Amino acid sequence: MSEKILVTRSSMPPFQEYIDEIAPLWESRWLTNMGVKHQELQRNLTDYLGVPHVDLLTNGHMAIELALQAMDLHGEIITTPFTFASTTQAIVRSGCTPVFCDIDPVTFTMDPSKIEALITDKTCAILPVHVYGNICDVDEIDRIAKKHGLKVLYDAAHTFGERVKGQGVGSFGDVSCFSFHATKVFHSIEGGCVCYHDEAFGERLAHLKNFGIKNQEEVDGIGANAKMNEFCAAMGLCSLRHISGEIEKRKRAVERYRSHLTGVDGIQLSPIQPDVENNYAYFPVIFDRDRFGADRDAVMAELAAHDIAARKYFYPLTSTFACYGGKFNAEETPTALRISRSVLTLPLYADLSEADVDRICSIVLNCGT
Ligand SMILES: *Cc1c(COP(=O)(O)O)cnc(C)c1O
Repeated sequence: MSEKILVTRSSMPPFQEYIDEIAPLWESRWLTNMGVKHQELQRNLTDYLGVPHVDLLTNGHMAIELALQAMDLHGEIITTPFTFASTTQAIVRSGCTPVFCDIDPVTFTMDPSKIEALITDKTCAILPVHVYGNICDVDEIDRIAKKHGLKVLYDAAHTFGERVKGQGVGSFGDVSCFSFHATKVFHSIEGGCVCYHDEAFGERLAHLKNFGIKNQEEVDGIGANAKMNEFCAAMGLCSLRHISGEIEKRKRAVERYRSHLTGVDGIQLSPIQPDVENNYAYFPVIFDRDRFGADRDAVMAELAAHDIAARKYFYPLTSTFACYGGKFNAEETPTALRISRSVLTLPLYADLSEADVDRICSIVLNCGT
């Protein structure tokens, strides 16, 4: 009897390594508020991510939300509905209005050729997502943003550590946000960061994550509490020491998947982007029912019958969430709608064995005709 396979499984550093990392906290009694672990992780990540500045936060969601606030954005933000709930919720919670742009059918990222038609005199920013580790068309988005005087904030939650021609993905746009959630390639249990260029923005963000407090007597922003604590930062320090080995193991699993599923009629895989150092975060598969012989839901049910959990990620489109009261029309982003209805992400984590990948693929292929 084989064990249940979940869609993901957190990477863990050796137990003793984490214990050694947190032991000094019993001496210092400094558990949060930008302590030594926070400072060290911030320095190490600036270096690893290849970005000018990093600020650490409690999670990736607060990174996006407080970055939007620190950029002082008001009005409409052009974004993608093919993303995790967080991206759209951050826009709405910050008082802005999301305007949904369709996606590219190959990379699943925002289609830059559709952006300009959505720009109005209320547009203040573009918020694209590097979906599944696929990098957006950053040059074209940059050109459009400059032409129209718009800010660009990337949701880089899926692209930890990726580089394009050696350049850190977090250095694109005005601001990029990463998530260090337990299920991501790199994690600090919960956590996230904002990468930025402008130091004045960095100061505003640092105040906003600490209640807007500038100093003991001055409060200069309507802030929240989004400081990364020392135990999470310590987990981040341990995770970062092992990251290249973890990515290497994910790469092996992905190559095994590709060896089984490449070239199968009715199956579309994520592209291999030239010049990109990938992090192998997810393994999405798009099923074309007419050509493959089974649809996404049938494949998912068959895997579940074998105790294998795949995930409809991303489904449904964020633009259709009940909390937005039917304000948006998913038919206006037809590619995103089609992909969300036909995508399934298969299990992927560093310790997933090649034998498990083989078994998953044979169940998937057996669903076809
Ligand atoms: C995980 C994720 C987030 C949110 O990050 P948290 O750390 O879980 O708050 C935002 N956007 C995308 C695309 C994500 O995958």
